[in-house]
Amino acid sequence: MNIAIDGPAGAGKSSIAKLVAKDLDFIYVDTGAMFRAMAYFFLTNGVDPRDEEAVSSKCAGIRIRIEYAEGVQHIYLNDEDVSTEIRQEEVGKNASVIASYPVIRTKLLELQRAMAAEHDVIMDGRDIGTVVLPDAEAKIFLTASSRVRAERRYKELREKGVDCDLDQIEEDIIERDRQDMNREIAPLKQAEDAVFVDTSYMSIEEVVKTIREIAEAKR
Ligand code: C5P
Repeated sequence: MNIAIDGPAGAGKSSIAKLVAKDLDFIYVDTGAMFRAMAYFFLTNGVDPRDEEAVSSKCAGIRIRIEYAEGVQHIYLNDEDVSTEIRQEEVGKNASVIASYPVIRTKLLELQRAMAAEHDVIMDGRDIGTVVLPDAEAKIFLTASSRVRAERRYKELREKGVDCDLDQIEEDIIERDRQDMNREIAPLKQAEDAVFVDTSYMSIEEVVKTIREIAEAKR
């Protein structure tokens, strides 16, 4: 059985998906991490992510692999574990830039589908219900207002001691959504058969319970 969770940046997809995966004994696949790892490669190898030709020509030589250690996903870029490095804001922004290139999406699509064919997965991203796993048994579109998403991110960063500005974070989130919703291939959108869940005024426990119920009804 496969569960697809899509939604905009900062909607809490990964925190929720991790908890649901644990509850249901599924494997959690964070597809955003794959786009981030690719972006990280270009950023650290002197390739401008905005240069589609340069990015596309380097793509074939890049190896992305996912492994699990005690249930936690680790992402390897050419055999180097980059799970921590890819969480930087800069990497996320550039992941959204290269995610609009066909060569990148085709390469990662293979890996995503292979993982879903092999395991019971709960996979999160932008196009899982629409493109990657159109036959997923359960589909959820998880969202929250941009202000709430920015506030959650702000709190997370402040707890880590990072100095940041709430309005700037909200602007960045809106810009990333705009980019992800308006690209030509696999744009961010709700699949017709996905359940819409607005988490703006829900606790994590409530969201997890809602998704478990949706998944169990389809089992
Ligand atoms: O979810 P996360 O912030 O890690 O994703 C980074 C970027 O990767 C997104 O803004 C989006 O452009 C891209 N992405 C995508 N399709 C997916 C997952 C992520 O285009 N399935």
